Amino acid sequence: QASPRKYNRVLLKLSGEVLMGEQDYGIDPAYVARLAEEVKAAKDTGLEICLVIGGGNIFRGVAGAARGLDRTTGDYMGMLATVMNALAMQNALEQAGVPTRVQSAIPMSSVCEPYIRRRAERHLEKGRIVIFAAGTGNPFFTTDTGAALRAAEMNCDALLKGTSVDGVYDSDPKKNADAKRFDEITYSRVLNDNLKVMDATAVALCRENSIPIVVFSIREKGNIVRVIDGEGVQTVVR
Ligand code: UDP
Repeated sequence: QASPRKYNRVLLKLSGEVLMGEQDYGIDPAYVARLAEEVKAAKDTGLEICLVIGGGNIFRGVAGAARGLDRTTGDYMGMLATVMNALAMQNALEQAGVPTRVQSAIPMSSVCEPYIRRRAERHLEKGRIVIFAAGTGNPFFTTDTGAALRAAEMNCDALLKGTSVDGVYDSDPKKNADAKRFDEITYSRVLNDNLKVMDATAVALCRENSIPIVVFSIREKGNIVRVIDGEGVQTVVR
């Protein structure tokens, strides 16, 4: 109990796919509610939490482009998808009793707040969770990069990346039974070996700003709290 806190403020990045639960598309409200309980449990430890949620469960720009959409149009559609996910998560968090604000990188004044860094700071001070929606607001980026950017802007101690795998492996653990998981790995190794953690832009931004990336499985119940205590299975990129 007396161990010093590892992190005071984190940015938690969840890919859109996490919101699908067992479905293969869209949002499963029951699963989002369970995620909200986990986020609440982490917040109840005194942690300040910023959230970024992807949009891949609804739309990805690259996939749209492959089917004939302009890449930029597809990317804007993808960013709008992240706003839907943010609203779903806000709804679930508030039902769990956690005051939450959504700030969008693309202003949408009747739906949520625009992104204003100082205002986000104030929300955190007041004990609210802030969900940053619409990624960076620019096409040709990802929500991982949006997460790295906001983590830097908000002076987060770490970027927690909750995915469906429990860390970073030297090869795809779903295809290779001998794949080895790293407990710790450098940003440069991730970039040089092209390991699947986050896209290169996001990793480079974290490296430049010395923000550790903690990769862990969000599918495992109770893992957010475990990870912030430095326990449980995870890979730290630093
Ligand atoms: N996107 C974008 N700029 C950003 C963030 C996201 O254009 O700054 C678009 C892009 O088309 C992306 C989609 O939004 O495919 C959904 O985001 P992402 O793929 O990062 O979601 P995730 O994989 O985390 O669910």
